[in-house]
Amino acid sequence: MMQQQHLQIIAARFLVTAGSSPVERGALLCNADRIVAVDSLTALKKTYPGVTVSDYDDAVILPLFVNAHTHLELTDFCHWADKKGKQVEQHKGFIDWILRLIQIKKNLDPDSYRHALMNGIEQSCKAGTGVVGDILAHHSARSVYHNAPLAGVVFLETLGQDPAMIDRLKKALHQTLEEPFAAETVLGLSPHSPYTISNRYLRHIYDLCKGRGLRCCTHVAESEEELTFTRDSRGAIAERFYHAINWQRFIPPPSGLRPVAYLEKVGGLFPENLLVHGVHLDNQEIELLGRNKMSLALCPRSNARLNVGKAPARRLQKAGVNLALGTDSLASNDSLSIWDEMHFAARWFAGELDAPTIFAMATQQGADALGVGEDYGSLNTGKKSSFQVVSAPVAAAGELHEYFTSGIVTDAIIQIYRNGVPQLSGV
Ligand SMILES: [Zn+2]
Repeated sequence: MMQQQHLQIIAARFLVTAGSSPVERGALLCNADRIVAVDSLTALKKTYPGVTVSDYDDAVILPLFVNAHTHLELTDFCHWADKKGKQVEQHKGFIDWILRLIQIKKNLDPDSYRHALMNGIEQSCKAGTGVVGDILAHHSARSVYHNAPLAGVVFLETLGQDPAMIDRLKKALHQTLEEPFAAETVLGLSPHSPYTISNRYLRHIYDLCKGRGLRCCTHVAESEEELTFTRDSRGAIAERFYHAINWQRFIPPPSGLRPVAYLEKVGGLFPENLLVHGVHLDNQEIELLGRNKMSLALCPRSNARLNVGKAPARRLQKAGVNLALGTDSLASNDSLSIWDEMHFAARWFAGELDAPTIFAMATQQGADALGVGEDYGSLNTGKKSSFQVVSAPVAAAGELHEYFTSGIVTDAIIQIYRNGVPQLSGV
């Protein structure tokens, strides 16, 4: 028998439990942090008389969002750029952007990253995000997550070409992984990308993840420059990026391989390795990703800002790649809101991905990509009682997904529940 004091019923005009089937006058029965029944409000009230009911009348209840790819430690990026007198410039090339990022981050103290991370967590929560795939280059800032209300994976980023430096990084990483990490998130690893990490070190990280059952995340095929460098060891990455960070002596011999084939060769195509961007992929690579049951986080606003191109979303979906959605960081985006990302994605991928698909990317598919699909991503029995309640000025259930991608402002969020607890006061 369930303990009555932890039970509550939450209802609204519409309940979006999973991908594309909203229920009218649906309700959730929650027992503390878990959903224990999903039914009509009438049926739940009849079966559980005396249980408190919160009825949000005209609103819609839907899962918290999954931001599958972000770098919350860079949330204060515009502020840092302002301080250094380097206003954010748009539509510059990828290499210009990355060099500018390095310049602006130069000499920042660890507290700056902690502060930015706290800001990023707060902004994400306010925007209805409950799960993140967050990349953390400054590992010491991970303690910020100890009291954070977000679930998902904190990927410790690593990169390097200098063998002596890599030895030190490996030792530090192994030590960090031995330490307890008491947070709703789990630790994973992120070898940054094929062009910033040595072949041997990349293999080591993939072996480590597979051996220890860790989630992994790799940026791949983001720019033309990356493609040229991975295959031919030439182009702007070799000439400008490697030069700027004094890595000229570490330019590897040409692999002759495109980025995804390169990842396959070093053991990087396993489903727990979430790939990010996937803008420049040919049909063979897309098939390879589908065959290996890979997940890919698309970051359309970031790709548009950096002018790197558009991911072949429809072909990826057809090949069976599990697509997720990410905002990337505020160094290449205007907000950390998945509402905003869905709005943009619906236009960016118009004719390729429909609104229910984009919604699924922001919820269940994103949760699956991060390995938390059993707890998050939809509102079924057994899942976490974590969801958002949003005003829904629509005439019928069939209009909801179009509404979700229509550019809802964060003001439309009426209430947010995390583990059964309402987060917004005065509601
Ligand atoms: Zn990224």
